[in-house]
Amino acid sequence: NNRPNDLSAFWMPFTANRQFKQTPRMLVAAEGMYYTTDDNRQILDGTAGLWCCNAGHKRAKINEAVRAQLDELDYAPAFQMGHPKAFELATRLAQLMPGDLNHVFYTNSGSESVETALKIAIAYHRARGEGQRTRLIGRERGYHGVNFGGISVGGIPTNRKTFGTMLGGVDHIRHTHLPEENKFVRGEPENGVWLAEDLERLCALHDPSTIAAVIVEPVAGSTGVLIPPKGYLKRLREICTKHGILLIFDEVITGFGRIGTPFAVDYFDVQPDMVTTAKGLTNGTIPMGAVFATDAIYDAFMTGPENMIELFHGYTYSGNPVACAAGLATLEIYEEEGLLTRGAELGQYWEDAVHSLADLPLVKDVRNLGLIGAIELESIEGQPTKRAFSAFLQAFEKGILIRTTGDIIALSPPLIIEKSHIDELFGTLRDVLKNLD
Ligand code: PMP
Repeated sequence: NNRPNDLSAFWMPFTANRQFKQTPRMLVAAEGMYYTTDDNRQILDGTAGLWCCNAGHKRAKINEAVRAQLDELDYAPAFQMGHPKAFELATRLAQLMPGDLNHVFYTNSGSESVETALKIAIAYHRARGEGQRTRLIGRERGYHGVNFGGISVGGIPTNRKTFGTMLGGVDHIRHTHLPEENKFVRGEPENGVWLAEDLERLCALHDPSTIAAVIVEPVAGSTGVLIPPKGYLKRLREICTKHGILLIFDEVITGFGRIGTPFAVDYFDVQPDMVTTAKGLTNGTIPMGAVFATDAIYDAFMTGPENMIELFHGYTYSGNPVACAAGLATLEIYEEEGLLTRGAELGQYWEDAVHSLADLPLVKDVRNLGLIGAIELESIEGQPTKRAFSAFLQAFEKGILIRTTGDIIALSPPLIIEKSHIDELFGTLRDVLKNLD
């Protein structure tokens, strides 16, 4: 057998670029803000792993909770039974989430949270005698994971082109990101609200009484940190309410403090009917996700056993005790260290740092909110370049971890970041970008 034992072949970002595949960057340890590589270099984590290690790495409290849980109760089925930590965590989560998003459905990832929410939406309407509402609406440039529902409502055509049409009746709100019209500009929160009217176009096109739900990332993360003006999501809410359509916020990235409030629900002051989460819930340790649903949705399923059968759904590992223990310990750290609002405290310093790169010739746009940021590089005649990826490679060599998508560099450091780390991150990034051609 001459095939290389190359696990990275199963990991998309590694396979997407041969250059990287041939020289895998091996991370062997992590603590606080830094990774350690196999050649013993320290890499400042500018991405919280993959937008998930919000409390930084190797947190003793989480590790101890996981070990203790393994010694006490390793596993409990989620059907017809439960365990105390699943309820404790659900209670804590519901307390964190504003409004009546009081009910938690556990999953094991962001992708599963999305599938769960989409299914709950359709089953909810059916349980209320509106079985014709099966259509789902996503948004261009939305990312909702890799499963069939998620790539159907997701707004990235290349992610689904290989698989044909997956869910019937799906459509997408237009979301052209025009920096001059839709950029997050301090003091001009109404800029770009008009983009929400595209949902009315879809309602007119499809008959709104066939639409079950609209799913959007409040801030689109994976496609380049696209921050809408405040009124935009409010307008989507109004249109959904008017037509009896459920609104789902995918907060897999924005949840747990990323944009300076516990959830984007708080920052944008909009109440969706469901919120999907994962990543920061367990600080990237034990895989876990959670879908939050309102009292009305919960009640629709609890009014009769036949309604629960409409929603036959659940995972072997839903509410796994070890994941719940990790989640509870993570929430304790967030609370003790004020991490869910740290993005607001450090927001101005972060904003200044992001904007300090705006003068570089190749920088086309900069965006920021809380502790998320993006630096968009110039494309060439509208075509994406490999510049951002080249910046990623050089940045790693110089000791910082950044993330790229097309011509966009995305940043989302652990929320424990200090000003000195921000200086280090942007000092190095400036060095890299100023020499890029
Ligand atoms: N939704 C959003 C908004 C995400 O950013 C992601 C992951 N980046 C997902 C869903 C999918 O999450 P997972 O990779 O845990 O399945």
